[in-house]
Amino acid sequence: MNISILINIVYILAAIAFILGFKLMSSPESARKGNLISGIGMLSAIIVTLMDAQVQRYDFILIGLLAGSVVGLILAYRTPMTGMPQMVGLLNGFGGLASFLVAWAEFHAHKHHLTTSGAAIIWLTAIIGAVTFTGSVIAWAKLEEKFISGKPITYKGQQIVTTIVGLGMLVSGALFAMQVQSEHGYLYFAAFTFFSMALGVLLTIPIGGADMPVVICLLNSYSGMAACASGFIIQNNLLIVAGALVGASGIILTLIMCKAMNRSIANVFLGGFGAPPSGSSAEVVGELKEVKADDAYLMLEAANKVVIVPGYGLAVSQAQHAVRELMEALEKNGAEVSFAIHPVAGRMPGHMNVLLAEANVSYDAMVEMDSINPQMENVDVCMIIGANDVVNPAAQEDKNSPLWGMPIIEAYKARTVIVMKRGKGKGFAGVENILFFRNNCRMLYGDAKASLQNLIAAFKGA
Ligand code: NDP
Repeated sequence: MNISILINIVYILAAIAFILGFKLMSSPESARKGNLISGIGMLSAIIVTLMDAQVQRYDFILIGLLAGSVVGLILAYRTPMTGMPQMVGLLNGFGGLASFLVAWAEFHAHKHHLTTSGAAIIWLTAIIGAVTFTGSVIAWAKLEEKFISGKPITYKGQQIVTTIVGLGMLVSGALFAMQVQSEHGYLYFAAFTFFSMALGVLLTIPIGGADMPVVICLLNSYSGMAACASGFIIQNNLLIVAGALVGASGIILTLIMCKAMNRSIANVFLGGFGAPPSGSSAEVVGELKEVKADDAYLMLEAANKVVIVPGYGLAVSQAQHAVRELMEALEKNGAEVSFAIHPVAGRMPGHMNVLLAEANVSYDAMVEMDSINPQMENVDVCMIIGANDVVNPAAQEDKNSPLWGMPIIEAYKARTVIVMKRGKGKGFAGVENILFFRNNCRMLYGDAKASLQNLIAAFKGA
């Protein structure tokens, strides 16, 4: 069989594997299988691509493969679950950089024969790749709080500067496409590279606080679009398909996240979001009422319906196994227990699902926000474990709050609320939680895992 026919057949099978993998990933139960099928598709595609007659040397490919695998493995093993968003952010950036390098290499190799449309595709790939790269590095640095603060960075005339840089990128791109074969080709290439890298930085620095997940999803989508565009440059069908899939799924995830964070997609695309609403949050009324583990046990012991709201603190204290044990103790005691999952609880989409699944909590017990909220009034005890922003009623009650409009788990409607956290620390958005001061709320201070173990011990001792 002709090798190019074989390559294209495998590419079609790989594309089917990607789509099937995506479908399976939509449910936690089949997600691992989906990941495996997509991975096999990608591996087969890589193997047949290496058989292409255009591949003349294997030494550089081998060096890149080894170096990338070693770095990837070390990163994957060393990154804690709580550091996943940063890692995803960085990987998006590498994807963007790879597409940018493909565009550069193609320009360098064919600069004397490029047509205007060919140069335009190179420009498109390079700018999306460059914006993705610098934007992702900034997102990573903000989430790690390394080199720059995680808070929005704003200054006077920001929109004007961003617009000028954007225009610079367009004008130098137009000149590049029109005069690509001239002696100024490289100059225009360097100019739009500079402008697009600057744009990635400028679009990401004003974003901070609770908007970060939206940015990560959007950059993920950009990295897919850059890969898709680079597929057009090197005329690789699978790269076009895979890039389009990543681009489209990234946009869908962005839309879902926008809804969960109460951000409009138009704002995201214009890059003018991130600044918290002006004005100060409403004054907090009431006082914090502490409860000890013994009393919290009595409340739980008497409850028929318990809802657990996990948040970032559960991940920090690695309390997922302890919470499953408590769930079993509660169920043994006759209570009906479910977990209320907020789409942006934790620090990455699906963070809570992954954590709880790791501890073998059944998928049926994890209930999504929209389904659990109507039941909240009938809940005897709502136990909040290391969650803060996702249960803050200020999102519904305080127009000046940075959280205003964000959908929340309506824990405050439960008869009794028990909050497990270490102290008076604020959530990711840095605002006070007015729920904690309500009459039906009790604070159980301490590391989540330790508090859960105390409760489990109380159930065992009973
Ligand atoms: P928050 O970040 O709002 O609150 C976490 C709480 O956990 C803190 O108040 C902290 O209080 C407590 N905590 C920390 N460590 C422990 C511990 N060891 N034991 C017990 N408690 C602990 O978390 P949520 O999950 O409610 O909200 C997620 C936030 O993160 C949202 O604002 C969301 O927008 C944002 N975000 C989400 C991403 C995602 O994709 N899911 C990505 C990036 C950001 P204390 O210090 O007093 O213990």
